[in-house]
Amino acid sequence: MFYKSTRSAQKANATAAQVIKQGLAVDGGLFVPESIPSLTMDEIAAMCKDSYPVRAAKILSKFLSDYTYEELLADCTAAYDEGSFVGGAAPLVHLADSLEVMELWHGPTAAFKDMALQIMPRLLSRALVKTGEERTALILVATSGDTGKAALEGYKDIDRVKIMVFYPVDGVSRVQKLQMATQTGSNVNVCAIEGNFDDAQTGVKMIFGDSEMAQKLNENGYFFSSANSINWGRLAPQIVYYVSAYCDLLASGKCKAGGAFNVCVPTGNFGNIFAAYLAKLMGLPINKLICASNANNILTDFLRTGTYDRNRDFYLTMSPSMDILISSNLERLLYFVAGSEKTAGYMESLKKTGCYTVDDDILAKIQQDFVGYFADEEATAKEIATTYAENGYLPDTHTAVAICAARAYVKDTKNTLPMVIASTASPYKFANNVYRSVTGQEPTSDLDALDQLSAATKTEIPYPLAGLAERKIRFTETVTKDQMANAVLSYLKI
Ligand SMILES: *Cc1c(COP(=O)(O)O)cnc(C)c1O
Repeated sequence: MFYKSTRSAQKANATAAQVIKQGLAVDGGLFVPESIPSLTMDEIAAMCKDSYPVRAAKILSKFLSDYTYEELLADCTAAYDEGSFVGGAAPLVHLADSLEVMELWHGPTAAFKDMALQIMPRLLSRALVKTGEERTALILVATSGDTGKAALEGYKDIDRVKIMVFYPVDGVSRVQKLQMATQTGSNVNVCAIEGNFDDAQTGVKMIFGDSEMAQKLNENGYFFSSANSINWGRLAPQIVYYVSAYCDLLASGKCKAGGAFNVCVPTGNFGNIFAAYLAKLMGLPINKLICASNANNILTDFLRTGTYDRNRDFYLTMSPSMDILISSNLERLLYFVAGSEKTAGYMESLKKTGCYTVDDDILAKIQQDFVGYFADEEATAKEIATTYAENGYLPDTHTAVAICAARAYVKDTKNTLPMVIASTASPYKFANNVYRSVTGQEPTSDLDALDQLSAATKTEIPYPLAGLAERKIRFTETVTKDQMANAVLSYLKI
């Protein structure tokens, strides 16, 4: 299996190891597989008895053909170990009627980014060997909170890789700060910067683009790499849990072999839902993909009208991981429905004017598979309260957006096929807003909200978030934006 850029008509010639190491194509496009491998109902039926790591190795081996099945099985087994994914990697929990919640947050940071970031570093480490790379990769991350922690947990103690995370000193919550400052591992570093998230992001981009820095790293046996969500190594592992959910629906008798189901995904960068679309292209019988957005409902508008327009107000919401106006992975969908030439044109237009409109036939094609719904702040808070009171289920803020969208879809269409709703974070990850929505009261602090939510709902704080205040603080450094490059060099001692 070879990979190509979404913006190029050239024949695919990059291996999976190359694209995982490289991240972005040289023309600025995203890497896509040259063809979609098929997944038959017999194969799916056989997977029903498999563990999650075996299901994952089987699916990944169809895409990562330059990795052996044994390598993939070893990595999947290590990544989705029961010690780190307590209660299973992607269990289904019945919500009500046709609605099933797929919990993707049982990993070491209690959010769904773990599903990809626990495996991708292992794939990168092997990619370095496969591509004959002798240097060590230095992963640089600018984070507004959650991605930094998930990346640190994923890359810690991985061979031939080091990671350094920058976060804005006043731009993350106390919980997030503690999570990062107490990070364990021999190859990790965390540094606060004076400024906001944009300052951190700009600083990291400047370091990436600085040729003197690159040379200095090279002379000392290092090169820069990123843990970006548009990397194919983060996307491919996300296909697995949709197949796994279907296996579970078959096993429980909620679906008969070949019977269709719906999927609803709380969406930001369009990575998670795009992975579900790939599963559908492979042959998984998904009827509709429901794309759920918060008040930043640019995708809802696009799926309804065919116009993607980022010239609009930006809202900070209680589901911050979906506060996005450029959903990068949408480019991959455009490539599959409209081809590389049109995709390159749309992206050019987006860059120049912040806007593009797809042709009617392309919109019609997209609407065969996708439908968009959104929940604003009031609807999200109400959904948390109702789902808890009426279904006895405590969703996080992002999951609540998806539950709200799923209910709206069922109401509008009267479609009663089983609906798998992706739950992307533990309610404790966003404990303050969940506590507020459920009790109508203010928590006494961001950190206290964890215990208060636990007491109010008689549910348990998941292990990654329990006892945070007692953990040993390892990283206390704060630098200005101008000192970021120096911080990198002094971390590497070069
Ligand atoms: C990243 C994230 C999302 C959005 O996923 P995309 O793949 O970017 O669409 C949703 N919920 C949570 C909790 C996340 O961390």
